[in-house]
Amino acid sequence: MADGQMLFAPDLDRDNDPVWNKVKDHVTPAEWALHAPLIAEINALKIQRDAVILAHNYMTPEIFHGVGDFVGDSLALAKEAARSDAKVIVQAGVHFMAETSKILSPDKTVLIPDPLAGCSLASSITGADVRLIKQRYPGLPVVTYVNTTADVKAETDICCTSANAVQVVEWAAKAWGVDRVILIPDEYLARNVAAQTDVKIIAWKGACEVHERFTAADIADMRDAWPGAVVLAHPECPEDVLNAADFAGSTGAMNDYVMKNRPAQVVLITECSMASNIAGAAPEVKFIGPCNMCPYMKRITLEKIRDSLRDMTFEVTVPEDMAERARLAVQRMVDLPPPEKPARYDLVRARGHQVAVEMI
Ligand code: SF4
Repeated sequence: MADGQMLFAPDLDRDNDPVWNKVKDHVTPAEWALHAPLIAEINALKIQRDAVILAHNYMTPEIFHGVGDFVGDSLALAKEAARSDAKVIVQAGVHFMAETSKILSPDKTVLIPDPLAGCSLASSITGADVRLIKQRYPGLPVVTYVNTTADVKAETDICCTSANAVQVVEWAAKAWGVDRVILIPDEYLARNVAAQTDVKIIAWKGACEVHERFTAADIADMRDAWPGAVVLAHPECPEDVLNAADFAGSTGAMNDYVMKNRPAQVVLITECSMASNIAGAAPEVKFIGPCNMCPYMKRITLEKIRDSLRDMTFEVTVPEDMAERARLAVQRMVDLPPPEKPARYDLVRARGHQVAVEMI
């Protein structure tokens, strides 16, 4: 690299490069000519800075396979951040994920390559909103999805993920001795959880703009075009989408489903890059669209990761008193034993009815 210019490095041996072999079905040779020098530069900077890169499942393949030291969903990444001895964490994901990493690793420097990598779901609610909710529903536990900002987590009794939300809600109802639990901010996750438990759910009208755009008609069209394809949907999707799917679960659960069952054809109803990233591990499976792209995740690029490590930007901080309260909510969830059985959002369909939730 010279004066910020990216130069093609002809000595980078594409065909023998393990990263190329993982991304070659999703990246053109022309794109690779731009990516390869950046990947080499970033991997050298990581050593220089004593840094690790946490790459979310929704990152593009050249980031996910090329520079990610740890890959997975947001909570798995934050836990890896806490376990790592590295001094610097670069979050290849969105801002709330970097905050969660900082909450769990207060002594490390946490960087996000683009501070505008936000999230429609996380920005649907603030800590002040949660304080008002608690005034309106005194004595009820507040369960918050991990896709929230640090100030929201700090007002929360316990966090949850899409994989353990049913278990966490039932734990909270029992621990508080109540039959109603506040589950925020994703309305669709709340509705899908409500269909699996007898605990009454109070929900907030937040949504992931990627998953809420999918419709049952999309799935019907896919089934017409690809008869026999297995359809997996994320529980942030509306109920009718889950009802039309064959299986529903978190990104981790989708990955496990594909690796275990190896369907001939599969449709992943989630963010676009997920299919590209897991396709290499299941080459005999044909992955089919539709796919919606997360504009916030796509703000993270190799160039920005390189700049972040080179310039040590943009540091993510969380005030210590807020981080302490938020850590308690995350830690309570982490300390729960693994669910006895995995969440089965497809039970929404098995029950054959929709369950009413109380909207705040
Ligand atoms: S995919 Fe949805 S929940 Fe995830 S960062 Fe994008 S908008 Fe937020």
